[in-house]
Amino acid sequence: MSEQEFKRAFGYANTALDLLHRGRIPPYPQFYELLYTYATGANPQLNARINAIFQSGATPDHDLATKLYDEFLKAHDAHERLNSVSERMSHRIEAVHDAIDAALGNANSFSATLQSVTDGISDAISPEALREMAWQLLAETQRMQDTNHKLEQKLEAARDDLSALQRDLDEARKESMLDPLTKIFNRKCFDEGLTKAMAEAATYGEPLSLVMIDIDQFKQFNDTYGHQTGDQVLRLVAMTLKSNIKGKDLAARYGGEEFAAILPSTDYAAALHVAENVRKALQAKELLKRSTNEKLGRITASFGVASYRSGDTPSSLLERADRCLYAAKHSGRNCVVGEIGLAAPEHAEKRDPQEAA
Ligand code: GH3
Ligand code: MG
Ligand code: MG
Repeated sequence: MSEQEFKRAFGYANTALDLLHRGRIPPYPQFYELLYTYATGANPQLNARINAIFQSGATPDHDLATKLYDEFLKAHDAHERLNSVSERMSHRIEAVHDAIDAALGNANSFSATLQSVTDGISDAISPEALREMAWQLLAETQRMQDTNHKLEQKLEAARDDLSALQRDLDEARKESMLDPLTKIFNRKCFDEGLTKAMAEAATYGEPLSLVMIDIDQFKQFNDTYGHQTGDQVLRLVAMTLKSNIKGKDLAARYGGEEFAAILPSTDYAAALHVAENVRKALQAKELLKRSTNEKLGRITASFGVASYRSGDTPSSLLERADRCLYAAKHSGRNCVVGEIGLAAPEHAEKRDPQEAA
């Protein structure tokens, strides 16, 4: 884990603990998770709700934390949705099994009837007995048809249900990979994508680059224009990033106002170019507040670029890109810094998060 990542996570933890303390909320794991999630800003709806509570002059307390946890983290847990889908699927499959069992039972009884009728046929059978047998066979056949018809209906209903469940499952799977606010990939997907991309780069000897992005002075932007407008900006940055990459590239929201792009088959020079394109595209956009058309100026971001080296782990590559990003912040923001020429870690300056530009 990079020093910056450690500091970042520690900052979130401190905010979470501070809020727990202020609200006299016991630091049980679920409440810590709730307020840690708030501190990262990863769940915009949750943040909007908690911010509204702060704006009303209150602080979330134990009861409210329980409610918010149930509403935002418990109920929305993608795993829980997947579990519910798989539970429904098991019930459906059980019902189909039961229907098949019933049909098999009927088929057995049908063949037993056939057998007994066949056994009862002798050379000297009377017409009455023959008629009786025919009735018996007809009744059995009808019963068999009924059961088959019911089975057919059940299978049809099960097929429709299973298709709906499949759609639900696909959706839940997709959702579990996306950041709900910006609809680009989330951190979990980024982590998996980076591991996979690095394994491929190692296997095929292909280049691979990583771009880390952090919006400049975003706290100030939020303070000036409000969190909701800030959220719009996050969407805009995500879209800008996404539209400047292609193919196998993966754009993700890494944390609150931090983004990342994994660029397979892309060497260092090309990655610098991609980062520069995103930087320029972002800088070129004039922000307008949707509701009032008020001009909000421009937003910029800083970029760090590092490329895969043999022997890298995801955290060593991330750490180099992160160091470049903070060097970019140090050189005045709104710029791209690549790892070549950057001082080694022990000589590099550590970023002071409180420091202004
Ligand atoms: P720097 O240029 O050094 O990066 O300054 P900064 O203000 O961008 O950095 P800092 O880490 O101090 O603040 C990050 C801010 O990002 C804090 C928080 O208000 C904002 N933020 C994080 N997540 C969200 C979010 O989901 N929505 C909104 N609107 N803002 C967020
Ligand atoms: Mg940041
Ligand atoms: Mg920032």
